[in-house]
Amino acid sequence: MPKKERYMITSALPYANGPIHLGHLAGAYLPGDIFARYCRLKQRDTLFICGSDEHGVPIMLRARAEGVTPQEIVDRFHTIIEKSFREVGMSFDYYGRTSSPVHHQTSQEFFHTLAEKGVFVLKTDQQLYDPQAKMFLADRFIRGTCPVCSYEDAYGDQCERCGASLSPADLINPRSAITNAAPVLKETTHWYLPLADFQPRLQEWIAGHPEWRSNVLGQIQSWFKDGLKDRAVTRDLPWGVPLPEDVAKKAGVDAAGKVLYVWFDAPIGYISATKEWAMEQGDPDSWKPYWQDKDSKLIHFIGKDNIVFHCLIFPAMLMAHGDYVLPENVPSNEFLNLEGNKLSTSRNYAVWLDEYLGKFEPDSLRYALAINMPETRDADFSWQEFQARHNNELADILGNFVNRVFTFIEKYFNGTIPPRGAVDDLDRELIAAIAAARDGVGEALDQFQFKEAIKRMMDLARFANKYFNDKEPWKTRKAAPETCASTLNLCAQTACALAVLMNPFLPFTSRKIWKMLQLAGEPEQAFWDEAAILPLAAGHQLGRLEILFQKIEDKVIQAEAERLRAVQEQMKKEKALSSQELITIDEFRRIDLRTARVTAAEAIPGAKKLLKLQIDLGSEKRQLVAGVAEHYKPEDLVNKTIIVVANLQPATIRGIESRGMLLAAESEGRLILLTTEQGAPPGKKVS
Ligand SMILES: [Zn+2]
Repeated sequence: MPKKERYMITSALPYANGPIHLGHLAGAYLPGDIFARYCRLKQRDTLFICGSDEHGVPIMLRARAEGVTPQEIVDRFHTIIEKSFREVGMSFDYYGRTSSPVHHQTSQEFFHTLAEKGVFVLKTDQQLYDPQAKMFLADRFIRGTCPVCSYEDAYGDQCERCGASLSPADLINPRSAITNAAPVLKETTHWYLPLADFQPRLQEWIAGHPEWRSNVLGQIQSWFKDGLKDRAVTRDLPWGVPLPEDVAKKAGVDAAGKVLYVWFDAPIGYISATKEWAMEQGDPDSWKPYWQDKDSKLIHFIGKDNIVFHCLIFPAMLMAHGDYVLPENVPSNEFLNLEGNKLSTSRNYAVWLDEYLGKFEPDSLRYALAINMPETRDADFSWQEFQARHNNELADILGNFVNRVFTFIEKYFNGTIPPRGAVDDLDRELIAAIAAARDGVGEALDQFQFKEAIKRMMDLARFANKYFNDKEPWKTRKAAPETCASTLNLCAQTACALAVLMNPFLPFTSRKIWKMLQLAGEPEQAFWDEAAILPLAAGHQLGRLEILFQKIEDKVIQAEAERLRAVQEQMKKEKALSSQELITIDEFRRIDLRTARVTAAEAIPGAKKLLKLQIDLGSEKRQLVAGVAEHYKPEDLVNKTIIVVANLQPATIRGIESRGMLLAAESEGRLILLTTEQGAPPGKKVS
C-alpha cells in the first residue's frame, strides 16, 4: 500500500479581541475546513489546526478600556470564537491559544534557536516612553491631536475620526494613553529579522511554486520589488511571550518588559497547537512528522491581509530555523464585502457569526459563502442573495430531490431501498454523473477552487432532480414497476453519494441524509473514491425522514438587511460630517466676533457692490467696507446692530481702509445681514 499523503492544514489564528464575522469565515476558516474535510475523506493523513491569537496591543487597549486584565479579554473571546467555530462545523483537530504555556515555551525555544544561529540583528534607537508608567509606548498607546482634522483623541498610528494614517511624531501635543503624561524619547534595543538577507532564498523558493494563486504571487512579487526590509521581532510591552532571558543576557540587554512581536509568535502558534494535539493523543512526538517530514504538505489558509506574514516572514523564520517544512501552498482569499460596502467592525457594519447562528442554519451560510467565495477577487454578501441561495438552490434543488426520493420510497416501497433491475441510457447517464461529480469536485478542491467544487456538487443534485422528473416514477409505478424500482434505487444511491460529496461543504446536511439512510457511523468516515459505487443494498431500510431545508421568509431577511442599511446610513452621515474640515473650539475662539452698531453708511463711487460703513464697537469706532450694496441701501443699514469679525487683518479695498468684516448669509443669490434678535449694545462678544 502506498504511503498516505500527509497534509498539515492551518487557518489563520483569529485575534481574540472580538467575535468572528462572515468576512473572517469566508476568508480563512470555511475554505480550510472544506479542504481538511475533503482530505480526510480522501483518507489522507490530515491534521487541521487553528487557535486564538491572544497577544498584541489591541487586546491590551481593550482591557484598559474595560478596566479588566488582558487575560480576561482573551478568555472571553477565545470562548466565544471557539463556540461559534464549533457550531458552524469547523472540524479543527485542535484549537489552541497563544497564551498557553506550551506556546510560550515553543516560541521562546524557536527564538532562542534563531538567536543561537546568529540570525538576528540588534538595533538600538530612540522610542517614546511614558516616564510615569515607566514603559515604552506602542503607537496605539500614544494619543494626541490629529494634524489633519484636529481630532484630539487620535492614535499614534491612525486618526479614528478622519482615517488619516499617522506616526506618533505627527501628533500635536502627544500624550500617553495610559497616564496622559507627555512621552519622552528613550533608548531601547530590539532584535530584528534581516529579511533582506533572506530575499534571494525566498525568491528562489517562490519561483518553485508557479501554481499558487496569481493574486498571492502578485502581492509577493510587489514585496520583492520594493525590497524586503528588516523587521523588529521584539517589542517593549507588558503583554506577550517574554523575550528569553538568556538571549537578552548574552546581548547585554535587560529582558524586563520585552516580549516577542505578536507576528513572530502567532504563526509559531500553529506548531505549538500541533504539539498540544500530540500530547492530547498521548504521543507527544507525533506532531513532528506534520511539521518536519519533508513530504508533509503544509497548507496555510488566510485572508489577503496576512500574505506577507505567511508567504515571506514565517517562511524566512522556518528557513532560518532549519528543522521545518515550508508551506506547500498559501491559498489566500480576498475580502468579503457586505451589501456592496466594506465591512467595518468598529462601526458594527458586519454580520457576526454568533448572532447568525442564533437565527439560521450553519449549512445555509456555508453554502452561500462557498459558492460565492472571494477566491481571486473581492466578493459581496447580501442577505437577499443568501435567501435566494437557500430557498432556490438548497431547498428547491438539493432538499427537494432528497425529500421526494425518500418520501416516494417510504410511501410505495415500505421505506426500503427497491431492487435495481436492467438499466437504460438515462440510468447510465446518472451513474456516470455521480462518478464525474466525485472526480470533478475532487479535482477542483485539490486546486483550491472552492466555488467550482461546490457548483459541481450542486450540478449532480440538479441533474438527479431532472432524472427523477424524466423517469416519471409516479407513472411507471403501475405501468412498469421494475423500472420504477430501478429509478428509485438509483435516486437513493445518488442521495447517498451526495451525502459524501457535500460533506466538506454541508456537513450538517450530509449527516442528516446519512441518518435518514440509516448508514453506519458518520459520513466523515466514508471514502471519497468509493462515493460512486452505489453501496445501498436492495431491502435496506430508511430511517425517520425529515425535511432538510425550510424556506427562509422575506420578512426575516428584510429585518437583517434593514439593520445593515441603518448602520450604512449612519456611517454616511458621519463621513459627510468628517469630510468637512472640522475645527476645535479653541480654533473657533480665535475668531473675535462682536456686535456693532452701524452709525453711517455710504456708497463708494465706481464700486457698485461696495458700501463704506462706520461702526461703533463700543470701545472704539471703525470703518469697514462691505460687499452688500446690491442688497441693501445705505440708509437701511444705519442704526442696525450687526455682527462683525473684529480681529480680521486690516485690508485696503479700492483705496479705502477696511478693519473688520460683517457677517451675512447667502440665500438664492441674496445676502441677508446677520443682526441680533433683540437690541444688543455694541461691542459684545459673540460666541
Ligand atoms: Zn484626523
